[in-house]
Amino acid sequence: MKSRGLEWIVLGLLSALLILFIYKQIEITSSEKEGTVVLTEVNQPGCGGCPSASECGGKSDSEGACAETTDDTEEEWSDWDDSGDESEEWSDWEDSGEVDEVSANPAEVNDEIEERGDELEEENGSAAPQSFLFLIEKHYSTLIRFTILMMIWVLISIFYHTRWIHYLRYPILLGSLIYFGFILGGCPCISLLFNDTILLLSGNSTLLIYPTLLIVLIIMTFLFGKIWCGWLCHIGALQEFLYKGERLQWLKSKKSQKILHIIQSSAVVILIIAILITKTNLVCQYFPFVNIFILQIFNPISYFLVGLVIISSLLIYRPFCRTVCPVGLILNWVSRIPFAKRVRISECKECKRCYRYCKMGSIQGGAIDMSCIACGECSQANCETIQLTRKKDQ
Ligand code: SF4
Ligand code: SF4
Repeated sequence: MKSRGLEWIVLGLLSALLILFIYKQIEITSSEKEGTVVLTEVNQPGCGGCPSASECGGKSDSEGACAETTDDTEEEWSDWDDSGDESEEWSDWEDSGEVDEVSANPAEVNDEIEERGDELEEENGSAAPQSFLFLIEKHYSTLIRFTILMMIWVLISIFYHTRWIHYLRYPILLGSLIYFGFILGGCPCISLLFNDTILLLSGNSTLLIYPTLLIVLIIMTFLFGKIWCGWLCHIGALQEFLYKGERLQWLKSKKSQKILHIIQSSAVVILIIAILITKTNLVCQYFPFVNIFILQIFNPISYFLVGLVIISSLLIYRPFCRTVCPVGLILNWVSRIPFAKRVRISECKECKRCYRYCKMGSIQGGAIDMSCIACGECSQANCETIQLTRKKDQ
C-alpha cells in the first residue's frame, strides 16, 4: 500500500477551507437578510464575474452580452460616487435594477473599479471594494463550488489505482456537465481563467479571482495529475458526450499529435495577441460553449462557432481540448515538470494493448505524451505498468 500522506493532508486542508467558506457564506446571507451588508455576487459589469445564464451570458444583446459599456454604467458609477457607505453602494447598485442591463468592456470597468476604490479609500479610510478580501467575500459561492471540485480531484487521485473509481468517471462528468454547464451556464468559465490572467499580466487590474483559480488548477495538476481535464471539466464533458466518431483513427498517429499540438500552441498565441490588442473579454463574446450551455446565440459568428464545436465534437474526440484550449495547454506543460504527478508507463513491453483505449492518442512508442488527460481509460488494458504517479519513467 503506497503512502498517500500528501493527498490526505490536502484533503484535510480543503475540508477546513470548505467549512470556513460555508460558514462565511451563511454569515453573509444572514447579514443580507437583516439588511446590514450586501456582498453577494452582484452582477458586476464586465465578465470578470460569472457569465452564467442569469448574468452576462443570459442577456439577449445582439452584439454579445459583454461587448460594450452603456451609458447606464456611467450613471451607476456616478450614483456610487455620491453615496457614502460602500456596503450601501453595492446594495444600491444591485437594487437599482439597472445592473442587469449593464454590458461593459471589462477593462474599462475594472479601471473604474480601481479608480473608485482608491477614491473610497481616501474618502472613508475604509477598505476598497475591489480589495482581494472583498473579492473573496463576494465569491464565496464560487469558492465553495471550486473547493468541492478540488476535494473530488484529490479523492480521485487517492483512489486512482482502484478499479471502482473508474466506473465513476462518466457519472462525475455528467454531473459536472449538468451542474457547471447547463445550470450555472458554464461557470467557472475555463477560458475566462486564461483571459483574466492575460489581462492581469498585461497590467490591467482585472478581478483577481479567476487568475487565482488558474494558479490553483496548476498546483493541483502538479500535485495530483491532470484529473481536471479527464474527470471534472464541464467543457471536456460536453465534447466527450457528443463524440460519436471512431473512424478518424489517423488522428491518433504520432504525426497528427504533433500537428494538433502546433495548432493548439498557435491558437493560444493568437488568442493572447487578440486579448492584448483588444483589452476586452473576447471569450465572453464568442465562447461557443457558453452559448450551448445557456441555449442562446447572440451573433452570426457564434452560430458558426457553435456549429463548429458540435460537428467537430461528433467526429473528433475532444477537438477543443486538443486544438484550442489554453488552460489545457498550460496543464499539459505542468504535467511535464519533473516530479509532476501524471499517468506514466514503466517498463513498457510494447504489446500495444493499451493503445486502442486511449482516444486522445497520447500513448506513443511505449510512453505517454503530455496530451494525456488522466482519464484512465487505458487502465482497461489491465497493464500494471500504467500508473498515476510522480515517479520518473523507467
Ligand atoms: S483541455 Fe480545456 S476544455 Fe478540455 S478538459 Fe481540459 S480545461 Fe477543459
Ligand atoms: S494515456 Fe490516454 S487513455 Fe490513458 S489516461 Fe492518458 S488520455 Fe486517458
